[in-house]
Order: sequence, then structure tokens, then C-alpha cells
Amino acid sequence: MSQSGDTSRRVEVHPGKEAVVEFDPELTFECVEECTWCCHHGVLLYEPDFLELANCASLSEATTQVRGEDFIRKEEKDREDHVGEDGEACFFLRDDGLCSLHAEEDWKPARCSVFPLSVSVEDGDIHVSVRDSAHEHCEGLNVSERRVVDHLDAFLPAVLWDLDDPETRREL
Ligand code: SF4
Ligand code: SF4
Repeated sequence: MSQSGDTSRRVEVHPGKEAVVEFDPELTFECVEECTWCCHHGVLLYEPDFLELANCASLSEATTQVRGEDFIRKEEKDREDHVGEDGEACFFLRDDGLCSLHAEEDWKPARCSVFPLSVSVEDGDIHVSVRDSAHEHCEGLNVSERRVVDHLDAFLPAVLWDLDDPETRREL
């Protein structure tokens, strides 16, 4: 890990693939399963994810296109738990609060791995910070000993470095 002039650090996440880390290196994270907050929304699908999803779900049922980009759509759920204030959640969020893609296919879109982080690109470098809304809603920040900076490969799939635009700011 190397440190630049400001508080950001350049970290090798995968062999030959570096990211500029813009959060406190002492930040820890462990997902609190009952939370499910980040699954109450639609999810951006990068092109490789869209193709992969076609192997395990009906794209016409599960996805929608907005501003020319593909998302997993959110839908109204007939339940009180694991939904947002509008009663909706991700198409794949099951009644028990588990992701059906993760639980049944052992796979999930890259965007879901990145949460609660966000990715932006500056001068050709991938920059990673904590998503603003995560500070308010994600229950998994600083509740464990697992330092995010030591496990960036789990948050940032290698495919991000191959994309024309890996930025995560686009939301449904
Ligand atoms: S918001 Fe955070 S704690 Fe909650 S399900 Fe998502 S990653 Fe886990
Ligand atoms: S695909 Fe799975 S992990 Fe991603 S938002 Fe939907 S339910 Fe959550």
C-alpha cells in the first residue's frame, strides 16, 4: 500500500490492478444479514453481469433499461420485512432476506459486491470511497474487526478494470 500526498492510498487489489482508496484504512465492515437495506433498490448491471444473469434468470422479467443502461428492477413485495419504505425491493431479494442469486446460483452482480463502497474514475484510476447513503443506512460499517482495505478484492471484482465505465453512481 502506498500513500499519496493527501489521505488517499494506492492499493493493489488484484495482480496489476490498483485502486486509489479514499476512506479511513481503519474502516471495518461485516454485512448484517437482517439489514438488507442495499437490496431494497434496483441494481446497475455491467455488461458482463447482464450476460451472466441470462444464464440463471429471465432477463425480461428481472431487468429494466433506464437511460440506455440495464438494471435489475425492483418490485413491490407482498410482505412487511426486507422492503423499503415504498414496499419494494430488488427482484431477487427473497422473503427470508437472502439474495436468490447468491443463495441458489452462488453468484451476484459486481455492483452488489461493491456496496457499501462506491467507485469513480479520475485520470484513468479507479477511486474507491464509502457511498454517502451507506453512512446513514448500512448497518455493517465498523461493527467487526474486518478491515475493508485488507479485503478490497472481495468488494472490487477484477472485471471493474476491464469496463469502459465502472462508475457506480448510476442508480435506478
Ligand atoms: S446495507 Fe450494509 S449491512 Fe445492510 S445488507 Fe447492505 S451491505 Fe449488508
Ligand atoms: S441481486 Fe441480490 S445482492 Fe444484489 S441487490 Fe438484488 S438481492 Fe441484493
